[in-house]
Amino acid sequence: MGESEPTLDELIDLIRRFAQERDWEQFNKPAALAVSASIEMGELLELFQWKTDEDVENGLQDADFKEALAGEIADVLVYLLRICDKAGIDPVDAIVKKMKKNVEKYPVENWKGRAPSKFNRSE
Ligand SMILES: [Mg+2]
Repeated sequence: MGESEPTLDELIDLIRRFAQERDWEQFNKPAALAVSASIEMGELLELFQWKTDEDVENGLQDADFKEALAGEIADVLVYLLRICDKAGIDPVDAIVKKMKKNVEKYPVENWKGRAPSKFNRSE
């Protein structure tokens, strides 16, 4: 990793090395990582617990709140990238494929300005 920002592959390597150096590969099984990602997602949600939209907007102007939010986002992403690494999934390819499906599933002419809820279908 050089002076510039790491690529996604470099981040995946960094996360893998972190686990290997601590002999944590033995614990980094996909199911355990998925549990951990979900727990971290809970920690992210906790930052929004009982907050109004206005509270959140104000929080996003607060450096401490933003730092805490960034930390939880990183925790979730680290576990998701670790799952990708262990499962041999290219996260960029997975997102590109999913977004192509989303474009087909939610055509602009049907969904513009409408929340993508299963209770908000047009049929
Ligand atoms: Mg956390």
